[in-house]
Formats: sequence, structure tokens, C-alpha cells
Amino acid sequence: MKVSIIATNNLPNRNMGRFPAAELPAIAKKLVGVAAIVDHEAEYEEQWGTVVEARVERAEPTPEQLEAYPDVLRTEGLQNVVAVVQSKTQIEIVPDVGDHASITTAYTDLVCPGCTCEYRDADRCKKAWEALSTLGYLERAGVQDIYEISLVAVPAVPDAIVTNVEP
Ligand SMILES: [Zn+2]
Repeated sequence: MKVSIIATNNLPNRNMGRFPAAELPAIAKKLVGVAAIVDHEAEYEEQWGTVVEARVERAEPTPEQLEAYPDVLRTEGLQNVVAVVQSKTQIEIVPDVGDHASITTAYTDLVCPGCTCEYRDADRCKKAWEALSTLGYLERAGVQDIYEISLVAVPAVPDAIVTNVEP
């Protein structure tokens, strides 16, 4: 079976971070070949598929998203990373496993959004913590690796979800 999944997007997530649109092509590139598992359990037998294709797609934001993130959506629009997972076995995509998705990502920088300080480093920039309290997020940059994609019940990225299943 082939399962299409929104792996992540460029909007702030529930962990107070977001990947700017410029980082998404690197995420898509590094997703190809990673294991699809459940609940971030890394045991090999939990692997139900492999990402065979991933791409960045523009999408239409909802009115709620436009209201919540006007600046991000005005400058970048809504962009999703869509992963296609090929599975030899038929996995039941059911609510107790979760049809939501989550990826584990390694990145080098936590950046103050909109800041032009010399640091590009939230730990050293005082404005970053202002940004975190006013905007509610910091930006993640310098994507190094993606370790896996999981099906989960509660995703960090609210819109990360299975969008299509082909037998
Ligand atoms: Zn800064």
C-alpha cells in the first residue's frame, strides 16, 4: 500500500518551534528512505514502511490559520512537506494508533524570528525570548537529518496527518 502523509509544514507547532519555508526542501530530501514507524518506537519490527518520495507542496490556509499566523502566511504562504510511504504490509490506520504524523528532526540552529542580530542563535539573543513570548515560537534552521516518520495520536504539528491511502 501507498500512504501519503503531511509530514510537517512551515507553521508554528505545539512545541513552540517552526521550520521556515526555506528549510522544507531539505526536510523533503532527507525524508526519502527513512523508516515509517509508530509512536517513535525505533525497534526494527515496528517499521511498517519506508518513505519512497517526498516533496514540498503549497496549500490553502484555513481562516483560523490566517488569523493565527498572518505574518508567516503573508510572506511564505502555507507549505506542506508531503511524504509517500510504501508498505508491504497492510497497516490499520485507526484512531488508537493515530492517523496523525510526526517526524524526528536534527537541526543545528534555534533562531530568533525576524531578528537581525549577529547571533542567529536564540540562546545568545535577548530578543529571542521576547519573540518567544510575543510570537509563541522560535525558528529551527540548519536541518541535518530526519530519523523517522511516525504515526501518532497527538502530533506536534497539528496539520500533520495521513491524507491518502492506496491499497
Ligand atoms: Zn536575535
